[in-house]
Amino acid sequence: IDLTVQEDMEKLNQTFPAFKDNYRLIKRIGEGTFSTVYKAEDIRYDRYNNSWDIDVKENQWTPPPPLKYASHSRSNSRSRPPRTKKFVAIKKIYVTSSPSRIHNELELLHDLRDSPSVCPLITAFRQSDQVLAMLPYFRHQDFRKYYPHMTIADVKLYFRSLFTALAAVHERGILHRDIKPTNFLYDPPKQRGVLVDFGLAEREGSDHKPCLCHLDQETRKQRVRASYALNAAHAGPQVGYPKNDTRPSRRANRAGTRGFRAPEVLFKCTEQTTKIDIWSAGVILLTILCKRFPFFNSADDVEAMIEIATIFGTKRMRQAGQLHGCVFETNIPSIGAQGFTLEKIMLWSTCRTDSKTGLTQEEKEAVLFLGRCMELDPSRRISAAEALDHEFLRLNGE
Ligand code: ADP
Ligand code: MG
Repeated sequence: IDLTVQEDMEKLNQTFPAFKDNYRLIKRIGEGTFSTVYKAEDIRYDRYNNSWDIDVKENQWTPPPPLKYASHSRSNSRSRPPRTKKFVAIKKIYVTSSPSRIHNELELLHDLRDSPSVCPLITAFRQSDQVLAMLPYFRHQDFRKYYPHMTIADVKLYFRSLFTALAAVHERGILHRDIKPTNFLYDPPKQRGVLVDFGLAEREGSDHKPCLCHLDQETRKQRVRASYALNAAHAGPQVGYPKNDTRPSRRANRAGTRGFRAPEVLFKCTEQTTKIDIWSAGVILLTILCKRFPFFNSADDVEAMIEIATIFGTKRMRQAGQLHGCVFETNIPSIGAQGFTLEKIMLWSTCRTDSKTGLTQEEKEAVLFLGRCMELDPSRRISAAEALDHEFLRLNGE
């Protein structure tokens, strides 16, 4: 056993008496900004057999009733059933996370406990500022290992699983906010995945300021014109960046991971919807189809807009900005007005530039679906439920 893991286990045991009697840490499996995740064996499970009790609200674990052996044992012998090891993922949330944030994550996980393809929460422990969340351990592979070899058939299975999770999460009005490969644990041999990490998730409607994108087109245009006129009246006519901008500064939730943020997040939309997750899922699909990870690699939000504009062109990017009352301008010569088709991007990325070897029929279908996930206008973007019904993801015979 790794010495550092041994030390971690001692520390956990100091905070949570009897930790060692119930769990055996095996290794660290994740170390992020907000938590350390361990793989552990749940020794308790072996004692009580197949019953975990969940009670997050009361913050306590109720021991399940003593073991009852299944009576359908064929041999009808009195021997114990074969010992099955049960593994858990223990997420130790850093004490620097705010209590409301930790509570939010556990509460949303609790709400989603019966959702398909979402990793359930077994239980959670708290001792003063230390919080541990217990999840069933889910075997998975590193995205970087399997994505270069995925066939279109594999891609369909992966996204069917991911969109099943998203449909369930979105149906409950929850935005995950951090869809990316490390938060969707996929096991290629099993062709199944589970969504994890609700650390940034929130309920739809958490922002209270209305955004122009929710108005009809005509009203929106009028509002934008009025705002320009007001600004011009205050600051006088000017070229370039307004020095004395009198408009109130805009604040919006931008939690998420660089490269996966939807355009409306970059444009500081104050009424973000579950569609932001669909865009991020689209970025995963773009990565797989183009065989490049990470696909987007911007350091900040402005660079991220530039990357998106390079693909979609300034014309569509400007329209996307206007939806949220933003003006998008750039003088970077490599960004054209029209941009490129996603089909072109895929051909270039996979070095198939000679016209003879275009995309296959099934690749074309994948690109059409990608276009539906990466609509710049969130109201036109496909929803998770619609995606499951899209011909690209629909199961055969449905
Ligand atoms: P963070 O908020 O620190 O990103 P996550 O919940 O995303 O924490 O977990 C970090 C990593 O730990 C994941 O990317 C994954 O590799 C691993 N992990 C998390 N939950 C599980 C689980 N239930 N089973 C197996 N591995 C997990
Ligand atoms: Mg994570």
